[in-house]
Amino acid sequence: MIAQNLTEVRRRIEEACKKSGRDISEVTLISVSKTKPVSMLKEAYDAGSRDFGENKVQELTEKMPVLPDDIRWHMIGHLQTNKVKYITGKVSLIHSIDTLHLAEAVEKESAKAGIKTPVLIEINEAGEDSKFGTSDEAANTELIKRVSDLPHIELKGLMTIAPYTEDPESNRKYFSALREFSLRPEFKDCFAGHPLLSMGMTGDFEVAVEEGAHFVRVGTGIFGERDYGIH
Ligand SMILES: *Cc1c(COP(=O)(O)O)cnc(C)c1O
Repeated sequence: MIAQNLTEVRRRIEEACKKSGRDISEVTLISVSKTKPVSMLKEAYDAGSRDFGENKVQELTEKMPVLPDDIRWHMIGHLQTNKVKYITGKVSLIHSIDTLHLAEAVEKESAKAGIKTPVLIEINEAGEDSKFGTSDEAANTELIKRVSDLPHIELKGLMTIAPYTEDPESNRKYFSALREFSLRPEFKDCFAGHPLLSMGMTGDFEVAVEEGAHFVRVGTGIFGERDYGIH
């Protein structure tokens, strides 16, 4: 089931790349495995997945040691400053830097460990209250500039979570806005290389790829519906 789902998601990413004239090698599919048991992650691993996304530090640090060490782990959920120390040096990319305070915590732990931590800044393009980050452009500009100055942080790009919708086309404007924002001339020296964009989930990843996504975060489309135990 999982292997089949992965094949189908990859096929759809390839289609979206073709449609938009992009090279498939520019797009990384992250298998979002939050709430799912290790056995299911193993299945995805065996089907070729090497990038996994989790949104809770505890779940991440529990799964990490029992799975192969060539997995690239992505922290995609809201991160509390007091938990930064548990994932520093262990994750491949933190997608969810939403305040300078959090960036400074990552900076401090990275300096202690003598490493540079790759991060993305989370932008709340649609301005939804339920999401972290802000849609305030001046605040985001300031955040990007300040974070890019931190010596033990490698600012690689931006991330957004678009609204839940039945109509993926309705999220296109948020994805293109994120790309355009990332390419502003004033950020020319802020990103380590071409700015990378983390955008697109099960409901809208093809549109995100067409709009320039480098990371798509797909959970339900690979592992099926999540059961949070709340009914
Ligand atoms: C859960 C989650 C996803 C995956 O959502 P699906 O709709 O199941 O694909 C992607 N990004 C973030 C930040 C998430 O928390």
